[in-house]
Amino acid sequence: MFLQVNNIEKSYGKTQVLQGVSFGVEENKELAIVGASGSGKSTLLYILGALEKPDRGELLVEGRDISKLNDEKLAAFRNEYIGFIFQFHFLLPSMNCLSNMLLPARIGGKDLAAVKKRITKYAEILSVTHCLKKFPFEISGGEQQRINLIRAISLEPKLLLCDEPTGSLDSKNTEIVINLLRDVAKSINSTLIVVTHDEKVSQTFNHKITIEDGQIIS
Ligand code: ADP
Ligand code: MG
Repeated sequence: MFLQVNNIEKSYGKTQVLQGVSFGVEENKELAIVGASGSGKSTLLYILGALEKPDRGELLVEGRDISKLNDEKLAAFRNEYIGFIFQFHFLLPSMNCLSNMLLPARIGGKDLAAVKKRITKYAEILSVTHCLKKFPFEISGGEQQRINLIRAISLEPKLLLCDEPTGSLDSKNTEIVINLLRDVAKSINSTLIVVTHDEKVSQTFNHKITIEDGQIIS
């Protein structure tokens, strides 16, 4: 298994959000996580992306227990392994879109010219070339979402985690974004995990788990 979680539990105060979640995903496979609002999908995705620590349970990536890493090693792990597409995008308002998308490469000390070339290619595919020099507040929500997506895939992460990546898109752009995520995941041998409300999207996934009240019910 590329990714394996065993008996993950997570509470916020007295609310137990995840109550012993276990599953595995093989390398180069895709998985959809579905469930009602408030069922714990985002919390689970944050734990998979090492942005939140579980109270109990293991998170193994290529057999390595991520929950045992210190903060510095966790940060390096995230930069190297994880592409995270947040439900509510976090583009820095004081930087133009291109600079926003180049941030992970700068932080990771990567070859900026090579990453910029890749970003430009994806921007063309997603019809946001005209946004590169604009600031986030100058573009629409759907464009921000696509910029955010390109930033997340800019370093070709092994694990692509997407929280409602098509939440504010129309059906045409939903299809384009999901196809792009799939193409990218395939071309870089990355594992794709998508949290979605959209049944049309989840139906296209071979593997699917349904969360209800912090437990996998199917
Ligand atoms: P979903 O993504 O399925 O809508 P979430 O994982 O966001 O669900 O939330 C599950 C539950 O956990 C909700 O009841 C939510 O209010 C609670 N929750 C999520 N994050 C926090 C937090 N940081 N602090 C307190 N409660 C939280
Ligand atoms: Mg959510």
